[in-house]
Amino acid sequence: MDINALVRDNIKSMSAYSTARNETTATNGIFLDANESPFNNGYNRYPDPQQMKLKSVVSKIKNVPVESIFAGNGSDEAIDILIRVFCIPGTDNIISVLPTYGMYKVAAAVNNVEYREVALNDDFSLDSGKLLSAADSNSKLIFLCSPNNPTGNLLDKIAVLEVVKNFSGVVVVDEAYIDFSEDSGFVSKIGEFQNLVVLQTLSKAWGMAALRVGFAFSGKEIISYMNNVKYPYNINSFSQEFALKLIIKGNNEHTATIIGERKRLSDSLKSVKCVKKVYSSSANFLLVKFADSVNVFNILNGKGIIVRDRSSQFGCSNTLRITVGKKSDNDLLLAILNGESSGLVLPLIDLKRVTKETSVSVKIDVFGNMVSSVSTGIPFFDHMLEQIALHSGFTMDIDVFGDIEVDTHHIIEDTAIVLGEAIKEAFSNGRINNRYGFALPMDESKAEVLIDAGGRSFLMWNLMFSAPYIGGIESDMFRHFFDTLSRSMKATIHITATGSNDHHLIESVFKCFSRALKMALYPGANDYRIQSSKGLI
Ligand SMILES: *Cc1c(COP(=O)(O)O)cnc(C)c1O
Repeated sequence: MDINALVRDNIKSMSAYSTARNETTATNGIFLDANESPFNNGYNRYPDPQQMKLKSVVSKIKNVPVESIFAGNGSDEAIDILIRVFCIPGTDNIISVLPTYGMYKVAAAVNNVEYREVALNDDFSLDSGKLLSAADSNSKLIFLCSPNNPTGNLLDKIAVLEVVKNFSGVVVVDEAYIDFSEDSGFVSKIGEFQNLVVLQTLSKAWGMAALRVGFAFSGKEIISYMNNVKYPYNINSFSQEFALKLIIKGNNEHTATIIGERKRLSDSLKSVKCVKKVYSSSANFLLVKFADSVNVFNILNGKGIIVRDRSSQFGCSNTLRITVGKKSDNDLLLAILNGESSGLVLPLIDLKRVTKETSVSVKIDVFGNMVSSVSTGIPFFDHMLEQIALHSGFTMDIDVFGDIEVDTHHIIEDTAIVLGEAIKEAFSNGRINNRYGFALPMDESKAEVLIDAGGRSFLMWNLMFSAPYIGGIESDMFRHFFDTLSRSMKATIHITATGSNDHHLIESVFKCFSRALKMALYPGANDYRIQSSKGLI
C-alpha cells in the first residue's frame, strides 16, 4: 500500500520545524543556541524533542525499532495528529464503531472531518463486513478500540485483520487497555501491514495518567509524518524522565493485582441483587447493567464512590462503568451495593497552614486508600511520621516547606499543630470520648501510650533520652512535638517508655502512639469503649 498517496498534500510538502537542538550534534559544551536561561534549576533547558531515551526503552520492551515509535502528549495527541496527517477537512471521513471511546469523534469534529459510526453487534463484537461497507473513497482512517471502552471486550483478532487487509486507508487499533488482557495485541503486526497503527498509553496499566505520555506504533513512513506534525517539544522533560524511571521499575505486580480483582469483583457483582449483567472484560473496568442505574449511581455517589454512567451510550442503557480499584475499594463498593456498608465514606481530611516560617499540608484518609507520603525536609522526623502512616491504619500525606537550616523547631511544631487538628477531625466522626491504649516492645525498648480523645489537652511524658540529639533533632523536640499534638488534638496523651537506645526508644513511642490511634479510629472501636457509672463515655 502506498502510504504517501493517503497523506494530505500540505503535510507531504511541508518540512517540520527544526529546533535548535536538531541542528547540532553536540551533546556537551556551552549551549547558547536556544535562548534558554543558563541558570540550572533542573528545567531551564528544552526537553529532547524526539524523546530518544524514552523511546529506546520502549523499543526494547515492545520489540519495535525506535523509528516505528511516536511518543505523544497522551495517546489523545496521536489520535489528533493522525487525523491531521491523513484527513482533508470538509472532504475526508473517519469510520469507527459504536459504542466506543469518545475522543475519536471529538478529534474528528475539531478537525472538521466527517465521522461515521457503525454499530457493534449486540454482544459488542465487530462485524468487519458491515464496518468496511461504510467506507468510500474519502475514508482515510478507521479507529478500533480493543479492548473496547466502555464495553471492555477484546475485538476478535481475525475480524480486525480482515479490516486491516481490506481497507484502503489506515486502521488505528487503540490498545489503551491491552496490558490487562490475555492477548498480545497488534504491535507485532506493524511490520506486516503498512496501514496499521497501534496506540498504547502509559495512562492505564502503567499508572502514569498525570504524566500524559502515549505511543503510536507503526511503519516508519507514518511515524515520520506524525513527527513532522507534532509540536517540537510535545513531551516535557519531567514527564520524559519520570516515565522512564517508572517504566524501568515495571508495572507487572499492579497489573496482576487488578486482573485478579477484576475477576473477584466481576464474580461478586453477579450475585448482587440489583445487578442484571456484568459484561466480560479484558480491561481494568467492568461494564455493569443494573435494574436502575441512575438509582445505583446516586447511592454510590452519596457514599463517596464515583463511577461512570454510560447509560446514554449506544447499546448501554442502564449501565455503569466501574473501574477496578484496590481490594479495599472493591470491598467497600460491594458492601454498599449489598446494603452492608456502615455508612458514608468520610471525606478526606485536608488541612493547610501557612505561616511566615512554614507551609504545612496534611491530608488524612481514615480508610487508608491514599498512598502515604511524608516530606518535612528533616529525614529523621520523616522516618518517625512514617511510623504513624504505617501503623495507624489510616494513610496520610504530609508536605512541609520551611527552612530546615534555621527552623527545625518551627517545622516540627507546625507539623504537630496541623497533624493534631487533622486527627481531631478524624476523631470527630462520632467517636469522641474514647480512651485507648497500647503497649509495645521494640528490642530493649518498651513504650506505653494511652490516649483519651475526650477534648482535654494534657501530656504526660515519662521517658528520658541518654543523648541531647536523636537523628540530628534536639531530643526535647519530641516531647514538644507530642505536647503540641495533645493541644491540637485536644486529647490527653500519656507516654511512658524505657530503653537504652534513643532511636529505638522514640521509634517505639511513635509506633505505639499510632497503634493507640488505630484502635480509636477502628470501625469496631465501640468494643474498646470504657463503660462508666455515667453511661458510655
Ligand atoms: C484512557 C484511554 C486512552 C488514553 O489516553 P491518554 O491520552 O494516553 O491518557 C486512549 N484510548 C482509550 C480508548 C482510552 O480509554
